Amino acid sequence: MDGRRALVTGGSRGIGQAAVLALAEAGAHVIVAARNSAEVGEMCARVRAQGGHATPWVVDVTDSAAVTEGIARLGPVQILVNNAGMNRPKLMTETPDEDLDAIIALNIKAAFYVAREVVRGLLEAGLPGSLINISSQMGHVGGFRRTVYCATKHAVEGMTKALAWEVGPAGIRVNTICPTFIETDMTRAMLQDPAFMEMVHSKIALGRVGQPQDLMGAVVFLASDASAMVTGSALMVDGGWTAI
Ligand code: NDP
Repeated sequence: MDGRRALVTGGSRGIGQAAVLALAEAGAHVIVAARNSAEVGEMCARVRAQGGHATPWVVDVTDSAAVTEGIARLGPVQILVNNAGMNRPKLMTETPDEDLDAIIALNIKAAFYVAREVVRGLLEAGLPGSLINISSQMGHVGGFRRTVYCATKHAVEGMTKALAWEVGPAGIRVNTICPTFIETDMTRAMLQDPAFMEMVHSKIALGRVGQPQDLMGAVVFLASDASAMVTGSALMVDGGWTAI
């Protein structure tokens, strides 16, 4: 990926952080996007300390105007890891509008804003590209206390397939990665509950939850020309969760 520019939203922590490091190691110049400027700066410093290239972008991706301005200013990116996302697990009957709005705003609308601007930049520059939407196994199945989260990740799957057809003729590929439970800030508290962890383990054929690094083969594969004929698809990295 030498010389290619990559954008990772939510690149300061968890899965996004691992993606920044993996893409930088593979030679890409990575733009690290998140809200916390100190963490974004630390990530960029870490990439540079390893001999890579990184640019900080402090942004709230739910702000459509900020996304449009930022991507226009930063220039075209050939690799997007559309990763920023959230969950607030609750029963539907206990879910307030505020949670519904916040999860939809980040998991669907912000993913749309970012993909739209990246595609606009690529089309304008006449460049091919690879967009990777970080979906979830919950984009394919249901999950207890996850009506909103599942709805948003199923939406990401639909957006991916439709966009793949829209931009395929321009040489732009669009795919999802669908992880099982991965130990990050988003899941750490829930995975500390022994009963929950037991339930999770019982649904993963490989018998363990994932680490961010478990997703990096998929990220590098989809970002690179090794996946040149792959578009509109979902790469399950779920330890077998959806296979039964
Ligand atoms: P984390 O909570 O660990 O990290 C989230 C990242 O997104 C942080 O860098 C955060 O930085 C950034 N972020 C959050 N809100 C915004 C915003 N409005 N604008 C810009 N950046 C934002 O999440 P994970 O790494 O666990 O999850 C990443 C993705 O993977 C999500 O889409 C999630 O749904 C998906 N996923 C996660 C799984 C898991 O088990 N962890 C399983 C399946 C899918 P900051 O707060 O500074 O903005």
